[in-house]
Amino acid sequence: MKYSNTLPFSKAQDTIDPLRKFRTKFLFPKHKGKDVIYFTGNSLGLQPRSTAKYIQQELSDWAKYGVEGHFQAKHPWFSYHELFAKPVSKIVGAKSSEVIMMNQLTSNIHFLFVSFYCPTKERYKILCEAKAFPSDQYVLESQVKFHGYAPDDAIIEVAPRKGEHTIRHEDVLSAIEKNKNELALVFIGGVNYYSGQVFDMQSITEVAHNAGAMVGFDLAHAAGNIKLNLHDWNVDFAAWCTYKYLNSGPGSVGGAFVHERHHTNDLSRFAGWWGHDKSTRFKMEKGFKPIPTAESWALSNVPIISMACHKAAVDIFEETGMNALAEKSKKLTGYLEFVIEEINLNFKNKKLEIITPKERGCQLSMIAHGLGKPFHEQLTRQGVIADWREPNVIRMAPVPLYNSFEDVYRFGEIVTMSLRTK
Ligand SMILES: *Cc1c(COP(=O)(O)O)cnc(C)c1O
Repeated sequence: MKYSNTLPFSKAQDTIDPLRKFRTKFLFPKHKGKDVIYFTGNSLGLQPRSTAKYIQQELSDWAKYGVEGHFQAKHPWFSYHELFAKPVSKIVGAKSSEVIMMNQLTSNIHFLFVSFYCPTKERYKILCEAKAFPSDQYVLESQVKFHGYAPDDAIIEVAPRKGEHTIRHEDVLSAIEKNKNELALVFIGGVNYYSGQVFDMQSITEVAHNAGAMVGFDLAHAAGNIKLNLHDWNVDFAAWCTYKYLNSGPGSVGGAFVHERHHTNDLSRFAGWWGHDKSTRFKMEKGFKPIPTAESWALSNVPIISMACHKAAVDIFEETGMNALAEKSKKLTGYLEFVIEEINLNFKNKKLEIITPKERGCQLSMIAHGLGKPFHEQLTRQGVIADWREPNVIRMAPVPLYNSFEDVYRFGEIVTMSLRTK
């Protein structure tokens, strides 16, 4: 695609953008009376205008029916989570029986580890990417300790080579090969939160399976961002949050995937009544009878208000589909990259270094050399919401669902102005 760093070009792209109407479905924070340039949908997605209505429905049904709302509500609470099986399975590329909305991300990873990290004396190691999201690092550390192993010995991190920012795919595969006799689990963030790198989940899964290990992915930065195909890729399990690209509100309900081949085998799991056979659930009898789907990993009756936020958001994804989003994402993020490289040409020493590889979703991470935090603060004062990650990275996520080409152009304008005053 041929880009141009001009306002007319960006406006023309917005005019022909088949997804342009979706921007109006979201509430943008304001800066001096105008929409901010919101590039942090990778951290907290914007609120759909429809969310309030979805929550109000549940508040009204609660007021009207009290406990009877479990069965009488417009969307009965007893089965509310079932509304997600189909639409969410499309977002992550799964069968409806393979996804379940429950708990939150870090808790879900721990619960899934009960089934998928069952170390033995010979096989007890976990392979992950270096600089995984801190919460995931704490999961791994506490899990291996819980099983009696030392983190330094049991956790293998694959890092970028010296002087590089991206972890090479072949290095992941060779680390799996090298540790194949001791590896119990490969657990990686499908899209790295810091660099925006997308891992080749399909071939990692294949190689890890050949090595005799289980494979899981943290999809916090992948769900709703890139096209996924968890079922066909043969991934064993995955978990994600819904408040980033899935726009379901701060701390909202999490999601989990368990491949169907594991639904009826005898993997250990921690059980609760919402995973128990529905026809006998209210007999309140002894003896856990797991539902033969991913639902059997659910424990508790569901947080309806959170679920209502998620439903508002998922209904919007139902209208777009991941194909259209991925297509726009490629153009929009490509435009941001183009604009940043153009800006570099106008300044003597290249200051803005994009560290995100071509294998990416919509996020670009850049190092602003010699500019530091004051530069980021300057952008914020001009109405740009992008985020700063220590020691020196600015993350920008032009989200195809609600960001525009004009957002990208205006962002470039503000960056240029800020660099001129340096
Ligand atoms: C955002 C994020 C989390 C957050 O976990 P919560 O349990 O939802 O607080 C965990 N892992 C990754 C990779 C993330 O990006």
